[in-house]
Amino acid sequence: MANQERRGGLEVWAPSITPPGIELTDEQAMACAFRILAIDGFAENLAGHITWQRPGQDNLLVNPWGLWWREVAASDVCEVDMDAKVVGGKWDVTPAIHIHTELHRARPDARVVIHNHPYWATVLAAVGILPELVNQTGALFSGDLKMVEEYGGEVDSPLLGAELAEAIGDATVAILANHGVIVTGATVAEATYRAASLDRVCRSAYDVMLLGKDPLVMPAGAVKGMKQSLLERAVDVYWAGAVRQLVKAEPEVLD
Ligand SMILES: [Zn+2]
Repeated sequence: MANQERRGGLEVWAPSITPPGIELTDEQAMACAFRILAIDGFAENLAGHITWQRPGQDNLLVNPWGLWWREVAASDVCEVDMDAKVVGGKWDVTPAIHIHTELHRARPDARVVIHNHPYWATVLAAVGILPELVNQTGALFSGDLKMVEEYGGEVDSPLLGAELAEAIGDATVAILANHGVIVTGATVAEATYRAASLDRVCRSAYDVMLLGKDPLVMPAGAVKGMKQSLLERAVDVYWAGAVRQLVKAEPEVLD
């Protein structure tokens, strides 16, 4: 049984009802994503970007230079074109945005790209190893992780961004040696859920390594079904709940 292929996701079970989410504009959704991940410990103060190339558009929504993820509100969100020129919003953006413009150019499937230096993933990145998937949340990342092994310094030009995009290839999640992570997703909700789960998975892997014992192995068939369930059933309710709690505590995020 344990080694058999397991079905997962909505094919197995679909809820008859789910708690309602909050209707958001695109900028409000971005602001919520920044704060949700900052509260979760994913963001290193003001480092990193989230970009969203909305369906049918080239331009990207992005956070401005100088604001910490923890304090971004909807009216702070900027819009840049694919050459990183600011075309909307009241702030500026840094040349580091080329990590994102070039990855979006190379990967039309990656509508949302999240980059920062979450602590536990960055610890593993310091020694160049991917986290071992030691629990069922790790199933979310089965087959999706790639190590980019060479640290190349600041990515501040389209050329360097394109080189990094080539190294990332078709990976859903890249761990950047000596640096941090890139997490991609089809939607803001999916990418945020994946990012929030990633550092916890890295921390689990790190703690299991400290125990000095080999983790029990999860059967591949069970992992496959679990991954599908997490993607199909957990993403939207994770996002709805995270937004509900944030907006209740910090309603100005929507301003
Ligand atoms: Zn970085």
